[in-house]
Amino acid sequence: MKKIKEIAEKIQNLQTILSKLNWTHYTTGFDFGIEEKQKELIDFYKKEENYKHILKKEKEVEDEIDKRKVKIMKDMFEPYHLSEELNEIRLKIRKLTTKLSNVLNTFRYEVDGKKVTSVEIYQILSTEDDENLRKKAYMSRKQINKPLVDNGFIDLINLRKEFAQKAGYDNFVDYKLDKQELSSNIFEGWVDEVHQMLEKMNKVRTKYAQKYLNKSELKPWDTEYVQAQFAPVLKRKVNMLNYKEVLNNFFSKFGINLDEYNITYDIFSRNNKSEWGYNFPIEYGKDSRILANVKNMYKEFGVLLHESGHGIHAFKLDPENVILNFGISGIIFEGIANLFGSFLHDEFFYKDIFQKDYKDISNQMRKLEEWFRINSLRAVPNILFDQRLYKNKIKSIDDITDIYWNTYKEVLKEKPYAEQPIWAYRIHHTTHPIYLHNYLMGDVTYKMIKNTYNKKNGTDKITENPKDFMNFMDKKVIEPSGRYPYEELFEKISGRKFSLEYLKK
Ligand SMILES: [Zn+2]
Repeated sequence: MKKIKEIAEKIQNLQTILSKLNWTHYTTGFDFGIEEKQKELIDFYKKEENYKHILKKEKEVEDEIDKRKVKIMKDMFEPYHLSEELNEIRLKIRKLTTKLSNVLNTFRYEVDGKKVTSVEIYQILSTEDDENLRKKAYMSRKQINKPLVDNGFIDLINLRKEFAQKAGYDNFVDYKLDKQELSSNIFEGWVDEVHQMLEKMNKVRTKYAQKYLNKSELKPWDTEYVQAQFAPVLKRKVNMLNYKEVLNNFFSKFGINLDEYNITYDIFSRNNKSEWGYNFPIEYGKDSRILANVKNMYKEFGVLLHESGHGIHAFKLDPENVILNFGISGIIFEGIANLFGSFLHDEFFYKDIFQKDYKDISNQMRKLEEWFRINSLRAVPNILFDQRLYKNKIKSIDDITDIYWNTYKEVLKEKPYAEQPIWAYRIHHTTHPIYLHNYLMGDVTYKMIKNTYNKKNGTDKITENPKDFMNFMDKKVIEPSGRYPYEELFEKISGRKFSLEYLKK
């Protein structure tokens, strides 16, 4: 297995360089040769000699772990050895994706003719009493729909469709799910699950709409506002300059010394910097970087906790396990990040920030927990919309609008909130197609992990013994995570099949 490891290390080295180039691109807007490096990586994948070695090993190995390693490597190399035509399509896809991500990262929305950052939009949405202004701020995100389409978004969709079909799949969704080692029927029944939740969900939403807005239903531009009404702690001003101290203190309770890890934080807004939150896992165990856009509100700690979760995970992985690390599901990555992100609502985190009145805050946080539990499945229409882009013919921006609204109406049974929905601002449709399910399934995963731990240890909360919980995470989740496909790992940890049920807990 020595040679196969060397092949994997070469890929990792190239990915590290690419990851650094992407980091620069996303934090400054400068592209110092991403396309060239992508080509180099593709050329390496295309090398006949490497692929042949993997195929040879596939016949030879007997050890279970070695078999797994060979499978992971084969899955990575195989798509490059189907045809030269496919390789050309892939290169076109990469090129167009980089171009469009640049369009997205440098675009700035306008409200009443004034440029606004994503942080400012969020602040308007959560604090502005005037519904009209909130609506304007929310809908400003639709301004990117047309530029994205004008720059080639539909071509990108079509290239991906073509690629999947020529690679022998029914559609691009099946292709991506196969690459992620997920069953193609894993989303079956999700729409029904949402429908079963609707009555309860709408009861709570109506209650808050009446109480805080004197109307009967919440629009998308009302939800942040209403949350900040029943939980004003979210918009409370905090000093973000000492974010690192806050994070260090929190993670130390789990036995994690953040300063031991080489995690770079770039957390304040700038021109030409991406408006999202990211972790760039440059090199496991050596270099991890976090991009965020925060200002001064408590809620913004959510993204810092989530991305720090990614950073910590990256340092807990053994860099020597190059191949198995390639086999870790995106759901596990997002699950661990969401686990830490969820502490935004946990006394275990905020007690130290709001020492004086943290008891009043508990009440607000309980309402928030309930709110998120009941609204969690509202992510389903976006997940399905992302998939349906690849299952329907798209000729114009109007076709995309139709797919969006049809999905929205079918799943949530709500009327369209505008003529044109906001969709293109969500960068995943461009850079990470068929990925959005990872967040929701990540939520399911961390809830399952907590539940399993508590059941085994007779505890009510994992924070009763946080260090022991982290031990459990290390041994039962992080360490074996590359050895099994997601659904198998899920069953190994919980003893049960994957199910959305855990979201109700
Ligand atoms: Zn994440």
